[in-house]
Amino acid sequence: MPTYEEARTCILESVNPLGIEKVEILESLGRVLAEDIFAPWDMPLWNNTAMDGFAVRAADCSSPVTLKVSAFLPAGESMSTSIEKGTAIRILTGAPIPPGADAVVPFEEADDVGEAVSIKGPVKVGDHIRFKGEDVKTGELIIPAGTVIRPYEISMMASFGKLFVPVYRKVRVAIVSTGDELVEPGEPLAPGKIVNSNALTVAAAVRQLGGEAVMLGIGRDNKEDLGAKLAEGLNADVLITSAGISAGDRDLVRAVLDELNVKLVFWKIDIKPGRPTAFSIRDGKPVFSLPGNPVSTMITFEEFVRPALLKMMGHKRVVKPFVKATLKAPVKKKPGRVNFLRVSIEKENGEYVAWSPGDQNTGILKTMLLAGGIAVLPSEQGDLQAGEKVDVHLLGSCVETLEEI
Ligand code: AMP
Ligand code: MG
Repeated sequence: MPTYEEARTCILESVNPLGIEKVEILESLGRVLAEDIFAPWDMPLWNNTAMDGFAVRAADCSSPVTLKVSAFLPAGESMSTSIEKGTAIRILTGAPIPPGADAVVPFEEADDVGEAVSIKGPVKVGDHIRFKGEDVKTGELIIPAGTVIRPYEISMMASFGKLFVPVYRKVRVAIVSTGDELVEPGEPLAPGKIVNSNALTVAAAVRQLGGEAVMLGIGRDNKEDLGAKLAEGLNADVLITSAGISAGDRDLVRAVLDELNVKLVFWKIDIKPGRPTAFSIRDGKPVFSLPGNPVSTMITFEEFVRPALLKMMGHKRVVKPFVKATLKAPVKKKPGRVNFLRVSIEKENGEYVAWSPGDQNTGILKTMLLAGGIAVLPSEQGDLQAGEKVDVHLLGSCVETLEEI
C-alpha cells in the first residue's frame, strides 16, 4: 500500500500535460501559456512624455529663461517638424517627443503665461521622457511558456496585438457516481435513498481548477450499467468515480474497470480518511476511484486529484505548500498512518492558528464547511497537544486567512 507521498508522486509521474490550443485573449485568463512570447516591437515604440508640460531643448534651459510656446501636442498626435531653438511645445502625457526636443518640463515646474513660458532651469537631457524600448525591446522574451496568465500578462499581450493565445487545453473530467442507493439532488428521497451530492462536489472542484466537468450521472451497482457509464467516461481526459471502491459485495468499480482494460496502479493508500482510493490507467488516461463518503471524496480530490489535473493543464506548480499552524486545542491521533484533519484556521498576531471545528467522522459534512484547511498529520505522529505545530494545506481562497473588515 503506497504512503501519502508515494501515492501522489506515482499519480503525478503517470499524467502529462494535454495538448495546446489557441484561445481568444480574455479566455486565456488563469490558463497556462504554452509557448514563449517575444516582443514584436519596442515598447514604447517612440520616445514620449511621462508628464503634461513643455517639450524643450535642455540646452536652452541651463539657466532661468522664457521660451515662446510654438505649438500644442496632445496625446494621440505627433509632430514631424523640429522644435526651434528658444521655443517650447505644450505637450500632454503620452505624446511623442517632437524632433529636436530632448527634455520635458512639467507644468508644475513652469510659469505658464499662455504665449510664453518661464522656466527656472537647469533642465537635464532626458528629463521626464519615456524612451523608446525602455520597457521592452524588440525580440525580448516577455512571457515565458508555463506562465499562469493574469490580468498583467493579458495587458502585455494586448499591447502587442496578440489577440489569440496558445495555452494548454482544459482538462475534461468525466464524473460517475456509483450506488443503488443514490438519487439525484432534488429527486424525492424514498426511505434508504441518499442524494448524489458527490458528483456536484467533484464538478465544482474541477471547475475551480479551470477544468470542465462532464456529468455522467449514476452508475448502478451491476456490471452492465456501471460498465456502460465507465466506458463512456473513458472518452474524457480523466475519469473520476465515487464510491463502490471498498471491499463490499456491491463494490464493483475495480472489477468493471478491469473488464474495460483499465490497469490498476494501486488500490488503497495508507491514509485516513480516504484509504480505499484507487488509481488506474488506460492508454495514459488516468482514472481516479474515490471513496463514497462525501468528506473522503473531498479530501482525496484535494490531496491527490487536484495536483494531477493541474499538471495536465500545464501547471508547473501543482502541489500546495504547507503553512505551519499552531494548534489551539489538543488532537487525538493514533500513530500508523497519515491523517487528514479538517481544521478551522485564522491568523493571530501574524501567525496561523488552527483547531478542529468538531466531529472528524467522514459522515459529518458540517465540519468540512467550517474548515479553512486540511492539516496533514504524519504517519508516526501520536496525540497532539495545544501549542504544537501542524502542516496545513489551505483550502480554496480560504477567506478566513484574509483580514476582516
Ligand atoms: P460505498 O463506498 O459505496 O460503500 O459508499 C460509502 C458511503 O458514501 C455510502 O454509504 C453513502 O453514504 C456515501 N455516498 C456514496 N456515494 C455518494 C454520492 N454520490 N453522494 C453522496 N454520498 C455518497
Ligand atoms: Mg456503494
